[in-house]
Amino acid sequence: MSRLTRREFGKVVGAGGASVIAVSGLPTFAIAQRTPKVVIIGGGAGGATVAHYVKDARNIDVTLIEANSTYSSSFFSNLYIGGIRSLESLDHGYARLRNHQIKVVHDRATDVDAVGKTVRTQGGTSFSYDRLVLSPGIDIKYDSVPGYSREAAALFPHAYNTDRAQKQLLKRQLEAMPDGGVVLMVTPNVPFRCPPAPYERACMIAHYLKTRKPRSKLVILDPKKAFSKQPVFTEAFDKYYKDIIELNLSTEIDDFTVVRLDGKAREVETKAGRRVRFDVANIIPQQRAGEIAVRAGCAEKDWCPVNPENFLSRNVKDVYVLGDASIAAEMPKSAFSANSQAKAVAADILAELAGKERFPVRYHNTCWSLLAPDDAVKVGATYAPKDGKLDPSGSFVSQKGEDAGLRKQNYAESTGWYENIIADMFAATPSSRSKG
Ligand SMILES: Cc1cc2nc3c(=O)[nH]c(=O)nc-3n(C[C@H](O)[C@H](O)[C@H](O)COP(=O)(O)OP(=O)(O)OC[C@H]3O[C@@H](n4cnc5c(N)ncnc54)[C@H](O)[C@@H]3O)c2cc1C
Repeated sequence: MSRLTRREFGKVVGAGGASVIAVSGLPTFAIAQRTPKVVIIGGGAGGATVAHYVKDARNIDVTLIEANSTYSSSFFSNLYIGGIRSLESLDHGYARLRNHQIKVVHDRATDVDAVGKTVRTQGGTSFSYDRLVLSPGIDIKYDSVPGYSREAAALFPHAYNTDRAQKQLLKRQLEAMPDGGVVLMVTPNVPFRCPPAPYERACMIAHYLKTRKPRSKLVILDPKKAFSKQPVFTEAFDKYYKDIIELNLSTEIDDFTVVRLDGKAREVETKAGRRVRFDVANIIPQQRAGEIAVRAGCAEKDWCPVNPENFLSRNVKDVYVLGDASIAAEMPKSAFSANSQAKAVAADILAELAGKERFPVRYHNTCWSLLAPDDAVKVGATYAPKDGKLDPSGSFVSQKGEDAGLRKQNYAESTGWYENIIADMFAATPSSRSKG
């Protein structure tokens, strides 16, 4: 789906996208006499894209509820940590979606009444819907690292969501640290947002240290035995950051899961009894679906089961859940995935509205990671629904020892992708990307 242009998308869902006449055998919006209402919670990679694509059909009342007035993207934030991009370059506003006649409400959704079909916000407003779309991303499970908490995150940032201040805090702490200091990185267990991101971050922190504070160290404590794109990451750790990065992957004997964080002593202890003292700590805990998806009744344990054909919740009627909050295995939790899923969700809503036939869906993902300036690697696949899951095909992954030209080309591809996904989410043209 992600490769459809908006013009092609319009053809798929039909030129009469505004028609609400019930066609026998096809589900339609219940109330054909009035303009149907679609409410979307979360204006990130998934939600903003759904809003943009659904609104491209006329006569739909689209409301996007987003807590923040500026979206600070998680994707590409590691490049800011590495000193390769500015913090401002991650900021995106909602003015163009407003110009698109989408009602953008900056408020926090606090409750969903799935029977009465209404959403309530912290500001006390109530919104009724015919279809609800949830793309709230992740919430951090602070207590998954004993001693860590929401308050402790103000000292030891996770910098792993759309909170702009968290990214800035980590960067400032690295800048304030004396040369010769120790940076600690604690990584999560699967499943978590963007599997290669902690290791791209390790490269970017190490790049910063190498160029500005070369006597410093980065110690990684990893509860896992293996991780995404490991061969090319470990090759880069050796090639560029040999004297800086110390990677501790868990084994049968040594478990590097952190069991205690002592903020005062600036020390952590692992299950295997290893103690590490640090000057700066980047703690990335376990994660779960954004709270509103839990309150809506869509979550089972930490994440939300969905029908892979269209991302309709398996638990709550007329509610879609996409992006990181959903269980979309084998698709990874990424912005590329969320954006691809968003087009399937929008097409499903519009097909229902127009009483049109659905077409088989295909989703796409590519995740690039920057190892060092001009040296980027990638992993990706196409996914189709099969046996209740998303079955990958056409998988590809960067290999060790690739030539510098190819890696440079990967980097150029990744920056082009960033421009394009932002344009797709926020209804901008790639060249006019701005804070809107
Ligand atoms: C360091 C890092 C690097 C990454 N790099 C990449 C990459 O290179 N490529 C890639 O594809 N992906 C990358 N990702 C992953 C990517 O950021 C996420 O997978 C993607 O943003 C998920 O989209 P989403 O719509 O589910 O959530 P988000 O994009 O996080 O959007 C969720 C939105 O919902 C809002 N929200 C939540 N709850 C409420 C509520 N109750 N009321 C109102 N608003 C609410 C939030 O404010 C937020 O704006 C990276 C992630 C990290 C942390």
